[in-house]
Amino acid sequence: MPHIQLLPPRLANQIAAGEVVERPASVVKELVENALDAGASRVDVEVEQGGAKLIRVRDDGFGIGEADLPLSLSRHATSKITSLDDLEAVGTLGFRGEALASISSVSRLALTSRTAEQEAAARVQVEGRDMDASITPAAHPVGTTVEVRDLFFNTPARRKFLRTEKTEFNHVEECIRRQALSRFDAGFTLRHNQKVVQSLRPAASDLDRERRIGSLCGQQFIDNAVLIDTEATGLRLWGWVALPTFSRSQADLQYFFVNGRVIRDKLVAHAVRQAYRDVLYNNRHPAFVLYLEVDPATVDVNVHPTKHEVRFRDGRLVHDFIFRTLHRALADVRPDDHLRGAV
Ligand code: ADP
Ligand code: MG
Repeated sequence: MPHIQLLPPRLANQIAAGEVVERPASVVKELVENALDAGASRVDVEVEQGGAKLIRVRDDGFGIGEADLPLSLSRHATSKITSLDDLEAVGTLGFRGEALASISSVSRLALTSRTAEQEAAARVQVEGRDMDASITPAAHPVGTTVEVRDLFFNTPARRKFLRTEKTEFNHVEECIRRQALSRFDAGFTLRHNQKVVQSLRPAASDLDRERRIGSLCGQQFIDNAVLIDTEATGLRLWGWVALPTFSRSQADLQYFFVNGRVIRDKLVAHAVRQAYRDVLYNNRHPAFVLYLEVDPATVDVNVHPTKHEVRFRDGRLVHDFIFRTLHRALADVRPDDHLRGAV
């Protein structure tokens, strides 16, 4: 009869890493989310070999105090929530306290950080968590830089699942696209193998925002999209929806954010599809960049570790609001309705 044993922490983290760290892009997602949660106004992302060799994310956020550095790499360690009440109204992108623990268990990770109160920065370094985190003095402005090298170096089975450099980098780029669409107030740069691939300044005005969307989603999209903004029953939906003149053969230009978090949701997808139903051919897909803002207490974001799914308390209300808002926006441009003068 086998005996029951507690897993050693490193193994437990590596197992948990399977849920959050699928590929380099998942690391980029978690690190950029941390930067944004730290109030960064600029986030610089650098990757080498599609991220398999190096991922470096640097921000100008509020940093981590030296005393907190070792804890930041521990599992279930977070500064973002302290109670169930906090979780129910969570306003940050992170809250599970798992990302850095997971990532550091499957890579060589170094984190350098400095808060405004500190004279100098400090650096913590771990290699697949084989040794205790060592802390050394370092030079760094206020903010944080996380370097992740040799992802999956100690989990060869996972490393084998990495695709080509180009494919992995495409995923990284898509991840940055989503983050840059979700936070217009922050500037982003993305470098691959030392080449600047994306450079976006903070976008304050509608014009700046449309310029950013143009460079992320293509000028064609923004030229064929209308800006909507509707508020009702405690819900706000705003963003850009492409006119039926700009449809896609694939559902590859569809971004839907709920309180700043990009999500994939059946209910949302259904509402959008219904709204476009009589203006698009069956085999065509709409293109949109939409932002839904709801009271955080009415949506559960803790459905899956990657937080790509949400659960609305009143799904029906949300569905109908999205449908009605988009249907009206499209009705305004539907030629038949114009002729009939009907909306
Ligand atoms: P979570 O984001 O869910 O709290 P993480 O493992 O991603 O968990 O990060 C652990 C903690 O480390 C965070 O709660 C935060 O306090 C700190 N942290 C991580 N990255 C940064 C950063 N770029 N700037 C400031 N603090 C950070
Ligand atoms: Mg996090």
